[in-house]
Amino acid sequence: TEFLDRIDQHNPDINAYIALDRERTLAQAAAADARIAAGTAEPLTGIPIAQKDIFVAKGWQTTCGSKMLESFIGPYDAGVIERFDAAGAVNLGKTNMDEFAMGSSNETSYFGGVKNPWDRSRVPGGSSGGSAAAVAARLCAAATGTDTGGSIRQPASLCGFSGLKPTYGLVSRYGMIAFASSLDQAGPMAKSCEDMALMMNVMTGFDARDSTSLQRDKEDYTRGLPAMTGDKPLAGLRVGLPREFFADGLNAQVSSVVQAAIDEYRKLGAEIVAISLPNTRLSIPVYYVLAPAEASSNLSRYDGVRYGYRAPEYTDLMDMYCKSRAQGFGAEVKRRILIGTYVLSAGYYDAYYLKAQQIRRLIADDFAAAFTQCDVIMGPTAPGTAFRSGEKADDPVAMYLEDLYTIAVNLAGLPGMSIPAGFAEVEGKALPVGLQVIGNYFDEARMLDIGHAYQ
Ligand code: GLN
Repeated sequence: TEFLDRIDQHNPDINAYIALDRERTLAQAAAADARIAAGTAEPLTGIPIAQKDIFVAKGWQTTCGSKMLESFIGPYDAGVIERFDAAGAVNLGKTNMDEFAMGSSNETSYFGGVKNPWDRSRVPGGSSGGSAAAVAARLCAAATGTDTGGSIRQPASLCGFSGLKPTYGLVSRYGMIAFASSLDQAGPMAKSCEDMALMMNVMTGFDARDSTSLQRDKEDYTRGLPAMTGDKPLAGLRVGLPREFFADGLNAQVSSVVQAAIDEYRKLGAEIVAISLPNTRLSIPVYYVLAPAEASSNLSRYDGVRYGYRAPEYTDLMDMYCKSRAQGFGAEVKRRILIGTYVLSAGYYDAYYLKAQQIRRLIADDFAAAFTQCDVIMGPTAPGTAFRSGEKADDPVAMYLEDLYTIAVNLAGLPGMSIPAGFAEVEGKALPVGLQVIGNYFDEARMLDIGHAYQ
């Protein structure tokens, strides 16, 4: 009840949770206690976790931050929810998010913005902003997030904790409401790499109900952590710094905090090598063609017929479709649907969608070449610190630039992690800065070791 009491106290202001169900949570906690008493507990048994409201959970309100799903109650459990339940974790509630995970500030949520616990006049980042604020304000022990273009890492950076987007296909997307299916991936958001490793042990694994789920042997993500002590635990590790990540667009203070963190890695024994990811500048335009294209297709299911919002008044079927979608979706979602249907339309498909797919391959090739020169890549997670609520809300392009360093990782399907690097002084306040660590496919265990060595 400690977390539930803290939620009662702080959530009305922070707005991190949008669905709470004290009775269900307490029932799960009681079951976990019984399991602990019976000696059948696993590492996460009894641990209170916040679930992003993108995961369908049986009997729980599941809105994806949208009016479209305001009254939707989950009829089954998502793969991620199932796995946490089986491990005996306690679901504290569903967290706020940008509508259909489209955004970088949590301001597109139908249920209102979320305040950054470090400075309540600022945003927590997005789209997993509710999960981020819940972790940062200690309204949960840890949380889940999803990352299509940075939505785990950027809020972790802006709220001063750790977040990991795994290799595409490692965590089941079953029951995770789709935004851009070829990019969406769920992952842990927590205080430490150790906590994230324990969560990865639970979250990962093949799921036949997700057609892109990977069939791989289960790994123990905690296995390397004990060795990360002593003077030079990272001796022999080659860390690549892409020069494109330290160029125009990066806030100078953020740059120096990130450089200082990298310097600490040098002291831990890492060798720093200069690398180049020449197509980095194309990743935002490519993403903002491909993600809306996939979203326009995924969101066509919200037609007012099968489930979700239906306009109260209409004249015929077509009018019902139009009004339901016009009233049920917010402005950013509509913008993405318009962009998506445009780039997929007959006359423009080759010029936009096909071209973007070709550049996506070049971006993945950049990383493949880089990983012949280094073991992991480091750089900033986001170009700046948390910005003020409203500051970028009316400027989609400024908002899209938040994803500068994160989206290439999704386009390539690689794992990416943000860990706290330090603080930047902004207008008399210390605001958190994240360090991004990008690994090769399936290198999450090593990335967590690397993060752990610094923590
Ligand atoms: N900010 C990006 C977007 O708006 C990424 C969102 C995400 O990762 N879900 O699309």
